[in-house]
Amino acid sequence: MEYNSSVAEGSGKYHDEGDGMNCIKHPETPAAGTCAGCAEPFCNACLVTIKNAKYCADCKGLAVKKDVMAGAGPVGSCEEASSALKYAIVSLFCIGFILGPIAIIKGFSAKKIIAANPRLEGGGKATAAIIIGIISTVLNILGIIAKFAIKD
Ligand SMILES: [Zn+2]
Ligand SMILES: [Zn+2]
Repeated sequence: MEYNSSVAEGSGKYHDEGDGMNCIKHPETPAAGTCAGCAEPFCNACLVTIKNAKYCADCKGLAVKKDVMAGAGPVGSCEEASSALKYAIVSLFCIGFILGPIAIIKGFSAKKIIAANPRLEGGGKATAAIIIGIISTVLNILGIIAKFAIKD
């Protein structure tokens, strides 16, 4: 069949060469084109054009949803997560037993803020802040203990 090659052109125009392609919803009606989602033939009444692509009623919903999802990216980053990470990094170098716990607390509160507002990004930063905060707190306390242990 030559039909496939003309479809592959992607010109958006379909030649009805009378090869018996009818709308799968309306078997009496010749197909006007194929759905970009499921590749089934549909008539003009069934096809909806979304962003230069034709979709059937079933795939239309999916196409619109995908579009909405793509448009619903993060709207901003969570400030709390950034500041938690700053505290965490500084805590690695100085007063870890104070700054470490602050980073952990801020990290958890940032996670709460992000959970309440999924369009904020910074979840990774908050997690990193918590992990680094725990590490620097533990290392710092171990360091203090070690100092005392060596002195004795
Ligand atoms: Zn479809
Ligand atoms: Zn139809």
